[in-house]
Amino acid sequence: MTAKLQNFAMGQWTPGSGPETEILDAVTGELICLAHPGGMDFEGMMQYARSKGNKALRKMTFQERGRMLKALALYLTERKEDFYKLSYRTGATRADSWVDIEGGIGNLFAYASLRRQFPDKPYYVEDEPVGLSKGGTFIGHHLLVPKEGVAVHINAYNFPVWGMLEKIAVNLLAGMPAIVKPATITAFLTEAVVREIINSGLLPEGALQLVTGTGEGILDHVTYQDVVTFTGSAKTGRMLKSHPRLIEEAVPFTMEADSLNSAVLGEDAVPGTPEFDLFIKEIRKEITSKAGQKCTAIRRALVPEKLVEDVQIALGRELAKTTIGNPLAEGVRMGSLVGREQLQKLKDQVAQLARQTPIIYGDLDKVELVGADAQKGAFISPIVMLNQDPFRYTDTHEVEAFGPVATIIPYKTLDEAIELTKMGKGSLVSSIATADAAIAQEFAIGAATHHGRILVLNNDCARESTGHGSPMPMLIHGGPGRAGGGEEMGGVRGVKHFMQRVAIQGSPTMITAITGVYQQGAKQIEKDVHPFRKHFEELEISETWVTHKHTVTEADIANFANVSGDHFYAHVDATSLEGTLFTGRVVHGYYILSKAAGMFVDPKKGPVLLNYGLESCRFTKPVYPGMTIGVKLTVKEKIGQEKRSEEDIAKGIVKWLVDVYDETGETVAIATIMTMVKKLNQDS
Ligand code: NAP
Repeated sequence: MTAKLQNFAMGQWTPGSGPETEILDAVTGELICLAHPGGMDFEGMMQYARSKGNKALRKMTFQERGRMLKALALYLTERKEDFYKLSYRTGATRADSWVDIEGGIGNLFAYASLRRQFPDKPYYVEDEPVGLSKGGTFIGHHLLVPKEGVAVHINAYNFPVWGMLEKIAVNLLAGMPAIVKPATITAFLTEAVVREIINSGLLPEGALQLVTGTGEGILDHVTYQDVVTFTGSAKTGRMLKSHPRLIEEAVPFTMEADSLNSAVLGEDAVPGTPEFDLFIKEIRKEITSKAGQKCTAIRRALVPEKLVEDVQIALGRELAKTTIGNPLAEGVRMGSLVGREQLQKLKDQVAQLARQTPIIYGDLDKVELVGADAQKGAFISPIVMLNQDPFRYTDTHEVEAFGPVATIIPYKTLDEAIELTKMGKGSLVSSIATADAAIAQEFAIGAATHHGRILVLNNDCARESTGHGSPMPMLIHGGPGRAGGGEEMGGVRGVKHFMQRVAIQGSPTMITAITGVYQQGAKQIEKDVHPFRKHFEELEISETWVTHKHTVTEADIANFANVSGDHFYAHVDATSLEGTLFTGRVVHGYYILSKAAGMFVDPKKGPVLLNYGLESCRFTKPVYPGMTIGVKLTVKEKIGQEKRSEEDIAKGIVKWLVDVYDETGETVAIATIMTMVKKLNQDS
């Protein structure tokens, strides 16, 4: 019996219902499984995610969620070969699948590591506090807490694994569950990955559900605590974005849609330069990898007028080397599209484009294949077109032919090239191949308004460059206008899309209690035991050590000048002070800080392992010989660390507020320093 594509809803695998659709192997045309469009209780799924998944995830700290992602990434890596086997059936080569499968798992790893930029708490304290009063008794801060709903991700067919993992990595780290709706045609691969994720038992119940049917009605029950993301065609995106429920409930909707990405050959990058070769290689790669079914693929190659022929010849030569066919056959570099329906759509789009911009490489009806039959699989040859009049023939900038298709466009000046990139009305990415920093700067700033990402490609970075087509987990992925106006990933930025930001106001003591970070002016808790005698767990936020005092002398200045070699005039030459801010020889700022350390450090061997550095430091008032300074050392923040191995010492980083004040009580220097402190419990 033919397998049925399954949904994972409310803890159960279920095939859905309604008329069946055949899902075919993109290469051989063989039946893989049957999909059923409907029968899903979306309201029930949303409630289940909110009541189970959300409740569990929001209680976990960022560190716990991050470790969960890492464990999941390791678990899926062990099973990746099973995914590759299925991925071939989408028409993808091993290299294409690497981007989808290992790129997706890589995203899990990247977001797992990102936990280090978050506290060991379920919520996040953002940026610095804001002073709201003269006396310092009223301040503000920003907090982010996980939203109480579900992330609904509706994905395109081209990246069945990465498309899901790049999104859930982010919402899971933020503390929100997800319902994933992949495109039906390649959902069999997404289903296989979800099956493994569920089998792993690593995610809390309700953290992930899967819809493999059409998803019609999936937005009928979303609320303002949910987040919807969409990747796909602009047409579907616009239709979903105007769903009344999204408008009524003010539901955040992130869209990644069509994008007419461009690559520009700098005027300096003439044949014979490494940048010319890099440009050709990048265009070839973007046309052939994933058979051009990439949202970031280069659709428009902008070339200085006089170099059009050179580019045409060089690109043709490169493309001719590409072996097309069954991804499992030896030597094949380009596979097929995901299905014959997509193939027909692509042919129609190219035929439309070709009315204005003739095909100069490739043939819509002829393709030489290795190990495959063009009548059965969704194969097409790479197609290159030429647009001789790009300001008049505007289809090039409007029609996204989602396959191995690109158009060469001549330009006269860099201004014109920038203008042409903007005619895409907003794109995910643009590249420029140039070794000229002035060209790179002018292009990047000029084109920035219309792009989500700009890559400057030259010989210096080529070897390590991740390329035009690869969105990076720590950089934003998205683009304005036609590209959807959305923003995904981007490291910490992406996590915040799934959290509610709230401004909190109150006294420093209250804000300290809420944020778990000592705020200047908050009540300090003086203790009898020196904090350097205490282990990580024993230290309390706001705990303060008040030191003895020291009266600064001229000898201190002279000695410090000799030790440090800093003979700056204001410290050593009393005759040079006219017209300066100083009334006498001023003490070195770094002396104040060093002396402060000498005063607050407890020198005996103890739980403090090392000085980890300085996060911030300000000298707020000049100190002159004869003034007396003292220090208040306050525990500001504690960040636990994970053991790297069994033998590692269990420890954490402690941030200390160092307040150096003078005999009037006024602060003369304020710094945040960090120490590494041993934990009492060496098993944690
Ligand atoms: P699509 O036809 O727009 O479909 C996108 C997703 O929407 C699919 O999962 C589809 O499910 C779902 N969908 C359609 N109607 C729906 C409804 N009424 N309710 C809920 N879900 C619905 O796009 P595609 O053909 O899969 O992908 C190709 C397009 O995606 C290209 O145009 C490409 O530019 C774009 N794309 C953009 C990016 C980007 O980041 N900007 C990335 C990848 C792809 P079904 O498959 O079940 O219809």
